[in-house]
Amino acid sequence: MSLDQTPLVIAAPARLAVLGGGQLGRFFVRAAQELGYEVWVLDPDPEAPAGRIAERHLIAPYDDADALREIAQHCAAATTEFENVPAPALAWLAQHIPVRPNAAAVAVAQDRREEKGFFVANGFPCVSYAVIVRAEDLEVVPQVCFPGILKTARLGYDGKGQRSVETRDALAQAWQELGQVPCVLEARVALAAELSVIVVRAASGETVAYAPGWNVHRHGILDVTLAPAPLPSAVCAEAQRLAQAMARALDYVGVLGVEFFLTDDGRLLVNELAPRPHNSGHHTIDACAVSQFEQQVRALCGLPLGATTQHSAAVMVNLLGDLWFADGQRREPDWGRILALPQVALHLYGKREARAGRKMGHATVLASKREDAWSVAKVLRQHLGLPPAPEMPLAAKEQG
Ligand code: ADP
Ligand code: MG
Repeated sequence: MSLDQTPLVIAAPARLAVLGGGQLGRFFVRAAQELGYEVWVLDPDPEAPAGRIAERHLIAPYDDADALREIAQHCAAATTEFENVPAPALAWLAQHIPVRPNAAAVAVAQDRREEKGFFVANGFPCVSYAVIVRAEDLEVVPQVCFPGILKTARLGYDGKGQRSVETRDALAQAWQELGQVPCVLEARVALAAELSVIVVRAASGETVAYAPGWNVHRHGILDVTLAPAPLPSAVCAEAQRLAQAMARALDYVGVLGVEFFLTDDGRLLVNELAPRPHNSGHHTIDACAVSQFEQQVRALCGLPLGATTQHSAAVMVNLLGDLWFADGQRREPDWGRILALPQVALHLYGKREARAGRKMGHATVLASKREDAWSVAKVLRQHLGLPPAPEMPLAAKEQG
């Protein structure tokens, strides 16, 4: 892996490029513009949320040679917000301008086989798994992988491209349903909790991590994050340590989201990496000294990293497109009721088309105490017609 050897500070008003124009890109554009930069977005979707607020939106595929050449000619540096930007496109750009994170690190996170191989090679604890590429591989899957979850190696997100597999007999069928593409079969573990760490690493090697968030998923999609996580401090410290070690091992420059499982029997396992800011770090916009998106700008431009200090407890609630169809017909949710609650920040991403499961926005509830933020979030969920979130893990009550 090549060292990122660009020591220079890229000073505003330089022009930056972001590959991917979703909500993560939109927050990056905002943060960059706030620091005086100009931003170009590359995304094939003419309606991409980030494209609408950037200085320029290049509407083209991520591997479009002309678009990449334009970026190389006119932008001082490039980053990504979408992990499935083809790594070769990033590698090509990197011959011309600094690209952070590096293409090799993004390639690891793009493929569950590479990702798991990276965890194992570096001694990061993860679930037992087997790789399935050919029909013969089905026969030799070790028994520890059952019951398991079969996941496509590439292009899965928000629980897509996954099948539960109870027994060995069901495996071939599940693989067929996923199109017989390369997959990993993971042993399903009993989860006490899920948590994540947002870590930021500078080209200088300086690394900082935010306090872990406790994540609750619904139908495979992140529903709620409570930060700081109401989990034992030793678990949180270990998750931060592992996330920082992973960023170093990948020679990573930028913002890296690391998802973890805490198992029923107390083991902390790495689930997966996101080579970009992460949905579970959205509370950093409203609850931290410097947001994960500003950190992405700082790391990209060789500026000092910011403090990850969290000034308020925060609950982030994802607002999915389902909310627009609560009564069977399309209707804008009643945001007034949400905004009337104490210390609620509402972020809507400007997506015109609401679809089930589509991330349309998020709300962040702040309070000085975790329990208070959680209580307001309960009311917020009721107002929106969302089912109640589960109880906080017990450690919260012990810690106060
Ligand atoms: P995605 O890329 O869609 O986020 P994940 O691998 O993170 O895929 O899986 C989504 C969710 O499914 C996880 O956050 C977790 O709730 C559940 N899950 C995934 N793998 C396992 C596993 N091996 N054991 C138990 N639960 C799992
Ligand atoms: Mg995940």
